[in-house]
This record gives sequence, structure tokens and C-alpha cells, in this order.
Amino acid sequence: VVDLGMPNRSVVTTCAYCGVGCSFKAELKGDELVRMVPLKDGGANEGHSCVKGRFAYGYATHSDRQLRPMVRDKITDPWREVEWEEAITTVATRMLEIQKQYGAGAIGAISSSRCTNEEVFVVQKMVRAAFGNNNIDTCARVCHSPTGYGLKQTFGESAGTQDFRSVAQADVIVVIGANPTEAHPVFGSRMKQRLREGAELIVVDPRRIDLVRSPHIEAAHHLQLNPGTNVAVVNAMAHVVVTEGLVDEAFVSSRCEGFDEWAEFIARPENSPEAVAALTGVPADELRAAARLYARAGNGAIYYGLGVTEHSQGSTMVMGMANLAMATGNLGRDGVGVNPLRGQNNVQGSCDMGSFPHELPGYRHVSDDAVRSVFENLWGRTLLSEPGLRIPNMFDAAIDGSFRGLFVHGEDIAQSDPNLQHVSAALGAMDLVVVQDLFLNETAKFAHVFLPGASFLEKDGTFTNAERRINRVRAVMPPKSGKHEWTIVCEIATAMGYPMHYDHPSQIMDEIAATTPTFTGVSFDRIDQVGSIQWPCDEAAPEGTPIMHVDSFTRGQGKFVPTPFVPTDERSTRRFPLILTTGRILSQYNVGAQTRRTANVAWHPEDVLEIHPHDAEDRGVVDGDLIEIASRVGKTTLHAQISNRVPPGVVYTTFHHPVTGANVVTTENSDWATNCPEYKVTAVQVTRTHAP
Ligand code: SF4
Repeated sequence: VVDLGMPNRSVVTTCAYCGVGCSFKAELKGDELVRMVPLKDGGANEGHSCVKGRFAYGYATHSDRQLRPMVRDKITDPWREVEWEEAITTVATRMLEIQKQYGAGAIGAISSSRCTNEEVFVVQKMVRAAFGNNNIDTCARVCHSPTGYGLKQTFGESAGTQDFRSVAQADVIVVIGANPTEAHPVFGSRMKQRLREGAELIVVDPRRIDLVRSPHIEAAHHLQLNPGTNVAVVNAMAHVVVTEGLVDEAFVSSRCEGFDEWAEFIARPENSPEAVAALTGVPADELRAAARLYARAGNGAIYYGLGVTEHSQGSTMVMGMANLAMATGNLGRDGVGVNPLRGQNNVQGSCDMGSFPHELPGYRHVSDDAVRSVFENLWGRTLLSEPGLRIPNMFDAAIDGSFRGLFVHGEDIAQSDPNLQHVSAALGAMDLVVVQDLFLNETAKFAHVFLPGASFLEKDGTFTNAERRINRVRAVMPPKSGKHEWTIVCEIATAMGYPMHYDHPSQIMDEIAATTPTFTGVSFDRIDQVGSIQWPCDEAAPEGTPIMHVDSFTRGQGKFVPTPFVPTDERSTRRFPLILTTGRILSQYNVGAQTRRTANVAWHPEDVLEIHPHDAEDRGVVDGDLIEIASRVGKTTLHAQISNRVPPGVVYTTFHHPVTGANVVTTENSDWATNCPEYKVTAVQVTRTHAP
């Protein structure tokens, strides 16, 4: 803390929005936050920021915040404000009653990628040690779980390969299913700078995002594929690499395994650009030219987002991109790599912290006896070796009656998860839903206990960004509810008979470092000294690791995995002839719980549906019409925006507002390996209701 005059003090902390993880000085006058100033020395942002991090912090002190705990017997009862002790006792007592009646596996928790590493760690510890099961999942389930799976299979590490600075060395940048200028603006600007300097750009996206053509930037290729055909496109590019002699033989032979089997698969005629052109909607010569450009680049870098992962083949596509990068030798140095752009501030961290039902901290499977014994010895509890329930499995089990109690930490599943009718039915069927959050969100409508959370301005801890950079989050004010979030979790565990206590979140990080090899050298003191640390940080890399897999892959040899294209079941039909895909805009953020409670809301007060002029004309829809959008699972209404950004046959919307509720129409389809929902492909019909 530094005295500055007016404002009279500042605290260095980290933005709580996207996975870029920008550092800021929070400047205060007395106890009042007056501005957020991007930090020149910020490892991820180097003095830059976007409108959300700089200005959209008003939600943290918004009058909508519920600051006292509340309980009720039934969700139709009015809420009753209570003291903390009663709220925590109620949660513990009811959870134990459910376990007594229905078994230890009848309860579980969902942790949040919005929360700190330390908070996520204690939630998964509460589930494993106090609940006595592995029913812990994270909201990363519905965004980047295929990244975790796909990159672990191929490279051995569930994380992006590069630091952000690396893009400055890229000669060809491939952006697949991501919209960095809207969703990751500070990194998007860094990328644009490199493109203005002359790097070539390939965009793979059904929608014409801004990057395709903007001042001084024009993509060499925009592969405007049909939604759901990513894997066919990446396989076709790899086919060109293999059949036209563009493989980096030296890299493949010295660094990888499984190449021959993969090459035999990828060279098959059905993977050729000509064979997939009609299916993908991308002309064969465009596919060939794009593949040659990437393969012949000195440095070719792939950046991708939820347009890759949120498909029924999300994990296949992640492995397909990894195959392509290995085949061309585009790994292990500056300017290359396979780089997930994480949506939320701590997606990487929440996954690192073991909040998956099959993995302990550090991505180690619960069936690994040696790893489990590390935690068992420290925690004094026997841990289960069988994976627990994923989020969609929890919902299914709730409807079956075998899953009855859920702790939801900082995620609005009743707005963000797909097929909301199913989510509502599941939540409504449970005996106990506990919501720990800033606001009485949509999920809280189904809750029996509400525990007020703390904003990032009230927290000490760490977030880990998309480049594995562990940044400090520092409190500028005490928790408005009177309790730290990690304390609440510890007190619930303790009340359930498993004592959990820390004096400070730094002690939680010390426990993470003691149990998780990639965090061995991480501590609050160390981060405070150096500013931030990119994991792995261990004896081999005491300063951290900006670029991974430099001399060898985490798993030893990089592994080629054949990636057959299996089309989604979700097809356009006579009844539902259009394909809906979804995304975000710059001024709003995810379900909008924060940005809708700042001045930003005035800029984009509603979600709209982009529809191509031909499809609009067919339906008699004009700009601004109120339209109904219906899928096989539900329908909603919103206003139309006629746009050439989407091709004929494709419509697009955002999901920032509960009133329009795009996820009323998205379906239960999900990635075959991870159950990440297929938000990006929903067959719909659009009909005009009446003029504005
Ligand atoms: Fe925050 Fe992301 Fe914007 Fe940076 S780019 S200020 S992390 S929202």
C-alpha cells in the first residue's frame, strides 16, 4: 500500500473478468475505490486494459448485493435473514441429514472459475475430506474442459503452451473459434499489433468477426465453415501438410510418437479438402492455401476459444490442432504453439486446483494411489479412488432422486448451463441447494440457503490466467458480508465434522505448493517479490515457465492422436432449419451478473439475434423486429439484427441477459470426452412475432 495524496492510497490487484488477467492499481480515496489504473509492469497487460477492467467495477458495491445470509425451508417460502452461525449450521446439518438418508454420494459442489485459487482449493478439499466423495466439478466443465482433456492427451499438460508476449514473434496467426478483440481485448490488441506489423492471419469461424477485416488488417483466409465442422477443417489442413510434404520431419522424429499411424489416417481421401468442402462449406482451394500458409510459416501460432471446445467433438478438435502443430514443428519456442484463450479470469486456476471429479490438484487422477496418499496423509482422511459426478451427471441424478444436496459457489447455473428446463427441474428436485454468490441470481431462486460472497475487491489470493500466470489478488476493503469466502467453506467443513482452518489464504497457497508439483516454488511472498509466476514453477524452473515443451513434452514425446470427424447429431431440419451459435460482446461479460450492474448496461441493454438478410427476408423479418427463436428444447424472444456477419443458414446471439435467456434453446448435446455442452450448434427456427 502506497500513500499517494489524492487518491490517497492504491493496491495492486488483478482484473476479475477475462482470462487475460490484467494487473491494475486500485486507487482509493479513504475507503472508496475511485479508479482502476492498468499497471505498467503488469505481466499480462503491460499498462493496457479494456473497458471492463478499467470501468466495470461498480457491481462490487452495487446495492443489489445481498450482504446477510438467508435460509428458508422451501423455495416457495420467503427468505429469512439469519446470523452466519445459523446459516452454516443449517448447511452442515442438512447436508449430513441427506447423506444419512441417501448415502455419502448424494451431495456435491460446483466451484467457480471466478473465485481465487485458494477458494477453489478449499471447496474441493471440503468435498473430498468433509463430504467424503469426489462430487466436485467446476464451471470450466461448460467452457474449456476439452482443452484440459485434449492438451493432456497430446502434450501431457492441460494448459496453453505460450505466454502472451510470444505472439510478437508469430509469422502466421491462426484464430479458431475465438473473438479476441471482443472477449480478450488486451490480448486482442497485442495480436492486432503483430498483424499490423505484417504477420499473416487465418480466421476459422462461421461468423465474420472484426479481425477478418479491420483497419490495416485483412485475413489472408477466412474459413467461414458451417457450425460443427471444425474437426473436418483441421483434418483437411493436416491432410495437406502430410500429402504435400510439409511435415517437419526432424521435429516429428525427435519429439513425437504415433506419427505413422496418424499420418496413415489423415492421408485418407475422406480427409482431403475436396472431400470435405461441401460438408464444411469451405472451398477446397481455400483449405489448401490456408494449410500451406500455416505449414510454411517460420512461426505458426494457433489461438482458439469456445468456438472450438463447445461442440460435441470439442476434445477431438483440441487434439486435431495439437496434431497440426506437432506435424509442422510449431511448438516449443516463441511465436508458435496451441493457445486456449480462457473465458473467465480463473478458468486455468480452477482446473489446476483439482476441482474436477476425476482429478486431484495438478491434474492427477483420483485413482493414483501415490498421489492420493499425499493428500490423505496431510488431510487425515481416506479419499475415494473412483471419480465423482460431473455437473450434467449431478442434474441427471437429481432428477432420478439419488443426488439431493448441492453447494454452488459463484456460478449461475440456472442461466449459464444449457437446456435450462432440465437444469431447473434438477435444482427443483433437490432437498438442499446452497448458493454462495454476490447476488440473488437465477440459481438462488432454487436455493434454500444463500451465503453472501465477496467481490474481488474484498479478496486476498491468486488468479491464474490463460498463459498460466499466477497473479496476486489483493483486498482493498474487508468483505462486506463480514466473512471471507474461504472462511465460509472452512466453517461448513468444520461443522460437518472435518475441522478445516487457515489464518490467511497464503497458508492455503502453501498447502497447494506442498501437494502440487507444478506449484512447488509458488508462495505469496515469492509472487510479491517478482510480480507474477507462470507455472510450472519447480526446481527445474524456479523462475516459472513462459513457454512449455521446449526440449521435450510434459509427457515425454508429443503424441499424435487420430481424430476422425464424427458429425454432431444436431442438424438443421425442416422444422428447425437454421443453426444458432453464440458468443460474447466487448461491453458485457458472460451472464452479465457484473456488467449489467455497471454503466455498461446502457451500451448493450439486451441480447439481439443476428440473422442474414436472405433468412430475414424469407421470414418477413426487418431490423429490430421482435422474433421468436425456437429449438427442440425451448423457445425465447428477442429482437432481430439483420447482419452480413453471419452467413445464410446461421444465426447468432449473446447470452448476457436472463430475460432473453439464449440457453433456453441450447440442448443437452455435449462433448464425447468431457460433457462440455454443445452451445455452438443448435438447430432453430426463427419467426417474426410483431414489429418493434
Ligand atoms: Fe480485464 Fe480481460 Fe479486459 Fe484485461 S482484457 S481488463 S483481464 S476484461
